[in-house]
Amino acid sequence: MRWWGWGEEGHEVTLPDAAAAFLRDELGVDPAARSPHVSLEDVRLPDPALDGGGRERLATAAGGADKVRDDREARVAHAAGRSYPDLVRLRAGDGSSAPDAVIRPASAEAVEAVLAVCSEVGIAVVPFGGGTSVVGGVEPVRDGFSAAISLDLTGLDRVRSIDRVSLTATLEAGLFGPDAERQLAAEGLTLGHFPQSFEYSTVGGWVATRSAGQASTGYGRIDELVEGLRLVAPAGEVGGRALPASAAGPDLRELLMGSEGVLGVICEATLRVRPAPPVRRYEGWSFRSFAEGCDAFRTMEQADASPQVARLSDEEETRLALALAATGSRAERLGLRYLRMRGHERGCMAILGYEGDEDEVERRRQRAGAHLRAGGGLPLGRRPGEAWARTRYAGPYLRDELLERRLLVDTLETATSWSNLTALYTAAAEALRTTLAGRGTPPLVMCHVSHLYRSGASLYFTFLARQEEDALVQWSAAKTAASDAIVAAGGTITHHHAVGRDHARWMRAEVGETGIELIKAAKERLDPAGVMNPGKLIPPA
Ligand SMILES: Cc1cc2nc3c(=O)[nH]c(=O)nc-3n(C[C@H](O)[C@H](O)[C@H](O)COP(=O)(O)OP(=O)(O)OC[C@H]3O[C@@H](n4cnc5c(N)ncnc54)[C@H](O)[C@@H]3O)c2cc1C
Repeated sequence: MRWWGWGEEGHEVTLPDAAAAFLRDELGVDPAARSPHVSLEDVRLPDPALDGGGRERLATAAGGADKVRDDREARVAHAAGRSYPDLVRLRAGDGSSAPDAVIRPASAEAVEAVLAVCSEVGIAVVPFGGGTSVVGGVEPVRDGFSAAISLDLTGLDRVRSIDRVSLTATLEAGLFGPDAERQLAAEGLTLGHFPQSFEYSTVGGWVATRSAGQASTGYGRIDELVEGLRLVAPAGEVGGRALPASAAGPDLRELLMGSEGVLGVICEATLRVRPAPPVRRYEGWSFRSFAEGCDAFRTMEQADASPQVARLSDEEETRLALALAATGSRAERLGLRYLRMRGHERGCMAILGYEGDEDEVERRRQRAGAHLRAGGGLPLGRRPGEAWARTRYAGPYLRDELLERRLLVDTLETATSWSNLTALYTAAAEALRTTLAGRGTPPLVMCHVSHLYRSGASLYFTFLARQEEDALVQWSAAKTAASDAIVAAGGTITHHHAVGRDHARWMRAEVGETGIELIKAAKERLDPAGVMNPGKLIPPA
């Protein structure tokens, strides 16, 4: 992935004219203003703190000199994740968080040997999958250690086995989403885990962060798909054996999933897979208001009638989506007239995605459709659904272009019960609007519901504002206010982005002081030297 943004070199993205006009009108963004990133040569890096002896020992442990890199390109590529503040810093040439070296072992045994050297010498270890963390999860923090390495796990990239009878697959941690799906597809299978970061995130990263894919309503979050895993820690190996169910005491998988590299390295996971669906059908619906749509979604979910993908945008997100897609065509004009005639002109767009065999898709469409209609929903046909499916991974590429145009653009997410959803939505949106009100131009604060549960749902906010002089101070104020508001309103600090560094200070509110002590006790047992991903997940005292 390019060091300053999303995607690979050469993947060009241009902002559509309609989008540039919208940003000018709404946020007062000067269409000609540009803030390009510095060149790789101009990124400021700390001198490498790893001495020759340490480097050599790590190379031997990892399996050879070619497994260690400390060149500029490797260090910058592993200096940060892909959050807004990460990219603001990198684009401005701040590489101060770069690791001293990047180690890329190719087996669990080599991982174990590297952890032994780091524990003995006192080198901080940051497990690195795809590096798509948006919460500071992969940013090296030395925290008193002599040096910090990034442990790049993409060398562990094999499908170890597929059990077609039991419908499970054991995958190594460093497999990227597309590679995993390609190899499962060759066997007629799918995992069904498609986060928006799918192209550049890994199996190990998903499990370490309890990731949720875009089709999680139907297929489940990654934590629901883990049958067993293998975690290599400095003090030894621990894992949940791959079993469909067990009553043998507390479930260790639950402790290891979401451990974000602070307990050890997930080297492989046995995951529940399913036959790849022959039919995928995505459709659009409209609701008169977000509240009306949420209610219809709740009824559908509680009747066990939801499809695999179910997402509902609020009024503001719908307005932006329509503005960006505007072509002025006759079909579009007719569509808008239809919405107006039905009282949906300021409505909310929903996407429903059905996957399975022909009969199953049809049956579910009928059941879900009945609940959506009864809740005030208006079917819009396949076109909006297909447009969403076509562009489901496009957003992050566009973000680079928005950063270049000096926009603050970020997302945050939470979850709560259905009965508390409106209060949480209002509190978080209000906090973002108030802190980002800036000078004259109000921000755009948008939200969608995209992961449904019988008892509640997640809320996913996207916010845009004109970037101020000190972009990081501006971002931090908004993030803090929104996070405080989320916790005060009874939401979780994260539904799927994980904790990392950015959410750590809200962990006490999440699990309590005794809960923190329990996680610390597990860390002290598995990682006595405390080298594993310092500064993440566990809040400072
Ligand atoms: C544009 C964009 C869209 C995103 N969309 C989604 C989404 O739809 N759903 C979602 O859930 N998340 C999403 N994310 C967040 C991110 O992609 C997920 O957290 C993902 O699971 C991280 O995977 P990764 O391989 O990139 O892990 P990394 O970013 O490399 O690591 C994440 C954390 O896990 C630790 N880690 C990584 N691998 C291992 C391992 N093998 N063993 C132990 N610890 C490990 C790291 O130390 C770090 O703390 C998005 C991020 C971006 C930038």
